Amino acid sequence: MIKAVVLDFDGTLAVLNIDFSAMTKKILSFIEEHGISRESLRERYILETIDEASSILLRREGSLAEQFREKAHKMLREKELEAASQSRLFPGVESMLRKLRIAGVKVGIITRNCDGAVRRIFPHIGSLCDAFLPRDSVKRVKPDPHHLATLLDILRVSGNDAIMVGDHPMDILAGKRVGMRTVGVLTGRTTRDELLETGADYVLESASQVTSLIERLNR
Ligand SMILES: [Mg+2]
Repeated sequence: MIKAVVLDFDGTLAVLNIDFSAMTKKILSFIEEHGISRESLRERYILETIDEASSILLRREGSLAEQFREKAHKMLREKELEAASQSRLFPGVESMLRKLRIAGVKVGIITRNCDGAVRRIFPHIGSLCDAFLPRDSVKRVKPDPHHLATLLDILRVSGNDAIMVGDHPMDILAGKRVGMRTVGVLTGRTTRDELLETGADYVLESASQVTSLIERLNR
């Protein structure tokens, strides 16, 4: 029985127009300005890269690390807010969220994006879901299991009774780590094959098809 659905935001509920490669370039040159070569970094994704550089700085000269982190996050937020002003919800998203509520299915939304950018696209997000956890609200973001585990706690459901929906392999990975069934959607930049390779249990054209999937699973 599916009692809760957790949805990713960008690329799942809203048009994904964040230019991650431009963002990464900008952050990497900022990191290099601090005497850390990009070749020495192991992390692949931008938030984790900032954390990695900041712990290198902390070991080197503690006082700079916090300042670096704050500035890097400020640069990130500026880009995210800029992208948000050009984004919008996909058609059918609001009615899908209402249908889930009527069906008695709890809804959670999690994202690695910042609170401000999401609310710029979806100002009344709070009234259409039971819990919303942007990166500002948690210590570690998905694919770290902490992000989803925190949300499931708030919703008071176990991973076995919930389904994770997202457009990125990270969403699938995060869901699997807490025992959820996972649904990949094709409205982002990842292909069906990539989502299936990561272990997605289902792949849908868009998140608005989630309501019929749940009806089917709960029948
Ligand atoms: Mg996404």
